[in-house]
Amino acid sequence: MSLLERDKKHLWHPLTQHKSHPDTIVIKRAEGAVLYNEEEHALVDGIASWYTCMYGHSNPFIVHRVVEQLQKLDHVVFTGFTHEPAILLSEALISILPSNQEKIFFSDNGSTSVDVALKMAFQYHHNLGQKRNVVIAFDEGFHGDTFGAMSVSGLSVYNGSFEDFFLEVKRIPVPREDNLELVKSMLKNILQENDVAAFVYEPLVLGAAGMVMYEAEHLNELLKITQAHHVINIADEVMTGFGKTGTNFASEQVEIQADIICLSKSLTAGVAPMGLTTCSDRIYQAFYDDDMKKGFFHGHTYSANPLSCTAALAGIELLQSEQIVEARDRIHALHRSFTRQIQDHPRVKSTRTKGVIFAMELDLNLDRYGEVRDRLFHFFMEKGVFLRPLGNIIYILPPFVISDSQLRKIYSVIEEVLGIV
Ligand SMILES: *Cc1c(COP(=O)(O)O)cnc(C)c1O
Repeated sequence: MSLLERDKKHLWHPLTQHKSHPDTIVIKRAEGAVLYNEEEHALVDGIASWYTCMYGHSNPFIVHRVVEQLQKLDHVVFTGFTHEPAILLSEALISILPSNQEKIFFSDNGSTSVDVALKMAFQYHHNLGQKRNVVIAFDEGFHGDTFGAMSVSGLSVYNGSFEDFFLEVKRIPVPREDNLELVKSMLKNILQENDVAAFVYEPLVLGAAGMVMYEAEHLNELLKITQAHHVINIADEVMTGFGKTGTNFASEQVEIQADIICLSKSLTAGVAPMGLTTCSDRIYQAFYDDDMKKGFFHGHTYSANPLSCTAALAGIELLQSEQIVEARDRIHALHRSFTRQIQDHPRVKSTRTKGVIFAMELDLNLDRYGEVRDRLFHFFMEKGVFLRPLGNIIYILPPFVISDSQLRKIYSVIEEVLGIV
């Protein structure tokens, strides 16, 4: 039996309707910016496997570090024990995070990092003797698939069977030049009529919404208002973190600092799962008490796994290396020149670029979205490029280590696709 036939026997894939889904693709190995299937057919990984493998797949520097760590300490309980990889990682992170961030709390993935942030925010107010139970979030935000994270994500057609169990969430549109005043007044109304605990947002770029980008100054205007109402501002940097938007963290470009930041995805360079929720000392102090019950009683078995911590540390080292800093600028410049090349094409409705993220909207009629998305996907795959269009939006978020020629290959298949849609 082939691997594919054996896969079908027992495996249930994420985000998949198995009845209508075409065959999955077996990936045998990966190196740098390239994935290889069973027939050794190369696929340029144009989205860094969901923004995780930013330093390239199986990066030898990171692999070496993780193997070394594996021979020393594989795992130990993080309640009552600690270890050097976690301590080193906390120091490395605090040195690059926005200056108000002081404490690091571990969990397992992006969704749990958001659930932890929400629980921290609710309990923060509870510990101060206030009952605040409402969360504000963007209409099109995405924060994950566990219950808390799913609740604050923009409503999806797939959420029907869960909606009765959601947290109470009030939604606002993403601010733009032409709706900023409206969004501000909506926000003020919500704050007046509800006991709002937290505002959770993807800073500068809403990933799953289709790389929707908005201005730091506009976000800042909203954060000023929520901060004045003692709302906990939670920046979900699970996608934007670690150098994708031009700065190490998107939050650095915003004047008002977030109280809590969520991190995952490229945190561990794609080597192992891990989520982090970081917070300011003000948040931490509300839990630091003689009263046991004021502590934060949340924990995961694999919290601060030493291998994940080691991969993260090696990733942060690379993030700050001259080679990667240069690569980030180079990719941005190439995105800009590709934009100039295609922006006037009749099939291109709009383009946008921030840091190493590029997105373009195709000018297509609405009822063809699903069909077009699948056609685009298969076209790209046949040409040896892995991209995952979202409806009529094609985006690129390549690993930092992608070569100019690999990136040009992605651009050229996108240009080719413009001729056939
Ligand atoms: C992917 C993502 C999540 C969820 O992370 P998982 O590790 O898939 O649970 C949360 N927030 C944002 C902004 C994301 O992009």
